[in-house]
Amino acid sequence: MILYKAITIIGVAIEREDFYKTGKERGCKHPKAASKYCAKCGKPMWEEVEQYMFDDFSPDASETFRGFDVASERESKYIYLGWVQEVTIYMESMSAKVPDIDKLETDLRNALTSINLWPDNFGIYTILKDS
Ligand SMILES: [Zn+2]
Repeated sequence: MILYKAITIIGVAIEREDFYKTGKERGCKHPKAASKYCAKCGKPMWEEVEQYMFDDFSPDASETFRGFDVASERESKYIYLGWVQEVTIYMESMSAKVPDIDKLETDLRNALTSINLWPDNFGIYTILKDS
């Protein structure tokens, strides 16, 4: 039997690709030189690689980003930020204390605008997750 958890997010959905950038890494371990290929092993001096945009955040591993909860489905298009609550049908009471919504939106907007990530889609999202 496959079980699912429902995850409710009050916050924003940011496209996963916005958390990645194309960076350069050395193609081999020999000392770097100005040439395009390594004289010792012939590998490219630099290779293009996908890197995380922020050193302190990986979309599928981090639980918080800039102080906000993170939710995502692996390989999904969006990363959700804000207030995250996991809900199961067996919960005896749905007594989770919802945060001050206006303050949450303002805090998110301020944090994300400063790093050019504000998606302007603040709202309530629910995603399903394999348990
Ligand atoms: Zn080399």
